[in-house]
Amino acid sequence: MKRVYSSFNRVAVHHARNLLETEGIRAEVRNEFLASAMGELPPAECQAELWVREEDAQRAQEILRRPPPGGPDWRCGSCGESLGPQFTQCWNCGALRAP
Ligand SMILES: [Zn+2]
Repeated sequence: MKRVYSSFNRVAVHHARNLLETEGIRAEVRNEFLASAMGELPPAECQAELWVREEDAQRAQEILRRPPPGGPDWRCGSCGESLGPQFTQCWNCGALRAP
């Protein structure tokens, strides 16, 4: 097993696990409840961790590095149309989203 992600934010760790499972990678959250022992352990030991099998680790890291699909709406630089974060192209004028 290999650790691919860790965070003090348990929700973020669970979100990361969901992302991986969507891609067919089995992932395990560890240390989830250790945070309650905070004060007795160094802070780095209290992060929730996400572990995957050795052979999945590289792909898992690639998936976790992807920018999240959410985010704020964006405005087309060409025609000014307001567009949802899931679109990469303006449906109104066809301009591509600026990087
Ligand atoms: Zn446009």
